[in-house]
Amino acid sequence: MQDACGRKVRYLRLSLTPACSMRCVYCRPATYVGGTDGLLSPAEIQTLVGHLVSAHGLTKVRLTGGEPTTRPDLLDIVRRLHSGLGLSGLAMTTNGLTLARDAAALVDAGLTRVNVSLDSLDAERFRGITGVDGLRRVLAGIDVARKAGLSPVKINTVVVRGENVAELGGLVQFAAGEGLEIRFIELMPMGPLAAQWQHRYVPESEMRQSMRDTVLSWEPLVYEGGAARRYRAHLASGFATVGFITAMSCNFCAHCDRIRIAADGSYYPCLMDNPAGNILPAIRPAFDPAGLDRILAAGLRSKSAEHPATGVAVMTSLGG
Ligand code: SAM
Repeated sequence: MQDACGRKVRYLRLSLTPACSMRCVYCRPATYVGGTDGLLSPAEIQTLVGHLVSAHGLTKVRLTGGEPTTRPDLLDIVRRLHSGLGLSGLAMTTNGLTLARDAAALVDAGLTRVNVSLDSLDAERFRGITGVDGLRRVLAGIDVARKAGLSPVKINTVVVRGENVAELGGLVQFAAGEGLEIRFIELMPMGPLAAQWQHRYVPESEMRQSMRDTVLSWEPLVYEGGAARRYRAHLASGFATVGFITAMSCNFCAHCDRIRIAADGSYYPCLMDNPAGNILPAIRPAFDPAGLDRILAAGLRSKSAEHPATGVAVMTSLGG
C-alpha cells in the first residue's frame, strides 16, 4: 500500500475504544461521551491486521484509544495480534493508570513496547491536567512495566503553555534517572484547546530553551524513522534520550508511513484530516478483503503531502 506521494504504509495505529479514564485538558472535551457499542471485536481486529500484514506488508501495530486498557478484552486482542501474524512489533500507548496491575499479563500476551503519557511530576498539576489524582499510580505503572520486560518504555509529554513548560528540565532528569526515553510533543490545534492554540502551543525551540539550566548539550541522534527527532541530552550527571514530536513547527509528513483506524471503523490516512471513510462495510457481516483494499486505497489516493493546518477534534477517541 502506498499513497499518491509514494509513501508506503507499514504502520497501523488502531484505536480500541473512545472511552478514557482521564480527561486531559488538551485532549478530551468536557462534554465528550464516546459510545462503546459495536466496536471492532478481537476476532475482527485479528482478521483486519492479518490481512494488512499478509497482503500489504504491514509490520507494526500500535494500540491506542481513548484508553486501550479500559477494553475488558484487551488481553485477548493482544494475544490474537501476537500469535502468528508476523508483526515485528506490537506496541501500546496508555495513560499508565492500570499498568502496575496489567503489565505482566500484557507481556505474557505478547505486547512488546509501551508509551506512557506523563505531563507532570507534580501531583497537583498532574491532577489539574488529567482530571485524575493518579501520579503515583502512573509512576508505579512505569516501574512495573519496565520490570515486566516491556522495552522500550517511553514517556510522552504534551507541552502546554500555562501548564507544564517549567517542568521539562525536571522531566528530563527523571527520564535520565530511570533510563527511559522521553518525547516532548508539540500541542496540535485539535480538541478542547484548539481555539486557544496560538497561546498554548510551545515550539521545540522554546522547549529546549526552557531546559537550558538542565541540559548542557544536545547531541543529535541518527534519524531511524518515526515521528520524533531524537537527541542525547547531556546533563551534569548522566544523559537522557529526548525526542521532539514537532507536528506544528517542523512536520514529519514526508516520512509518514502510517494509517489510523478507530474502534468504530473510521479510517484516517492522516491524523489531522477528516476520515476517508469507514471500513466496517468490508468487515461485517463477512470479511471482504477486496472491499477493504478499495476503501484503504481510495483514502491513500486523497492523502495530502502535508497535514492540514488544523485538525478535526477526534484525538480523544483516535489516539495521537
Ligand atoms: N490514553 C492514551 C494516553 O493517554 O496516552 C492513548 C490515547 S492519547 C489520545 C494518545 C496521545 O495523544 C497522547 O500522547 C496524548 O498526549 C496525545 N494528544 C492528545 N491530544 C493532543 C493534542 N491536542 N496535541 C498533541 N498531542 C495530543
